[in-house]
Amino acid sequence: MKIHEYQAKELFIEYGINVPASKLCEKKEDIKTILSNFTFPCVIKAQVHSGARGKAGGVKLAKDYDSAVKIADSILGMELKSKQAGVKKVNKILIENAVNIKSEIYLSFTFDRANECIAFIISNQGGMEIEEVAKNSPDLILTQLIKNNGFEPEMLIEKLGFNSDINKQICDIAKKLYKLTLEKDALLVEINPLVITKSNEVIAIDAKINFDDNALFRHEEILTLKDEKEENPLELEAQKNGLNYIKLNGTIGCMVNGAGLAMATMDVIRLAGKEAANFLAVGGGASSEKIEKAFKLLISDKNLEAVFINIFGGILRCDFLAEGVKNAIQNLNINCPVIVRMEGTNKDIGSKILNNSGLKFTVVNDLNEAIEVIRKI
Ligand code: GDP
Ligand code: MN
Repeated sequence: MKIHEYQAKELFIEYGINVPASKLCEKKEDIKTILSNFTFPCVIKAQVHSGARGKAGGVKLAKDYDSAVKIADSILGMELKSKQAGVKKVNKILIENAVNIKSEIYLSFTFDRANECIAFIISNQGGMEIEEVAKNSPDLILTQLIKNNGFEPEMLIEKLGFNSDINKQICDIAKKLYKLTLEKDALLVEINPLVITKSNEVIAIDAKINFDDNALFRHEEILTLKDEKEENPLELEAQKNGLNYIKLNGTIGCMVNGAGLAMATMDVIRLAGKEAANFLAVGGGASSEKIEKAFKLLISDKNLEAVFINIFGGILRCDFLAEGVKNAIQNLNINCPVIVRMEGTNKDIGSKILNNSGLKFTVVNDLNEAIEVIRKI
């Protein structure tokens, strides 16, 4: 789960990490009142679940009240187009005291799956070009894997080349952030940039936190931070119905039971020269009503050329599946081809339901046959 920068900064404050004074603004009519209590220059920042807002025109420095009003008015409500997250409407802005920057540092904690531990990453080349730095001079990005014997970042931080007072401040922030990472079950905590000001203060001017969805059950305080407007509407609808759905960019919708089979199915679609429009794993115990819901969700995707249903009926019986799919298609008036491959419990009853439905399905016997059919779409 992602949260906004202003929410991440509130958590930073809770953990004693220095951030600039700021105020959130959600309505155009509040802009002037909020700004009349500010000193200048200030920074106006779009609050959207996306990185690289600066490059997309969503972060701007305002030198006085009049220009701040203009900038705030143009950013609040704008459609922010970024490489990372596509087009996002800006519903909130953060107005923040500007900081006099001497140096920009990149600092993060992220999950290193290969090494099964948290990785601490830091660079004295932080800022908006960090991806370029990572690509062109990876040696300027320092990493420390945090194993069981605790977190001691001092040595790594000394390599950045700042003086001991600055090093101490960075260390203090790193330790506090590490505590936050562990206590809140975060998968990524990132400050880019963490800046050294002209008066030698170290302060976090950006903040990004992603949480582990599987740990949210023990963090009610984090769940309340979820901004549904930022979520993909189809994915949100799926979550509400207990379905595991992720929207992708291809044209072949797929409905599968089980995540492993879903991955294999996406490979099959690729072998047929197409791309999957989604990942959708209906659970083992899915009822025909749930299948119907899943199907409705699937076909509300405007890019669809066809739907491929690939089910291995174990706990989920093929007749339940067939009933759900039949109902969905009858109720929804679907025009695109539907290809079905069913194997397992009650396969014969399932096939009968589909064949007797009077609807048009292409029932295939195995995955090779499925590939041939999908290839011809
Ligand atoms: P991002 O582009 O989404 O990562 O947004 P950031 O919050 O990192 O802001 C982008 C850039 O704007 C930063 O890398 C800074 O260079 C600049 N910036 C942000 N806040 C300030 C500030 O208070 N003072 C100055 N001088 N620059 C700032
Ligand atoms: Mn940033």
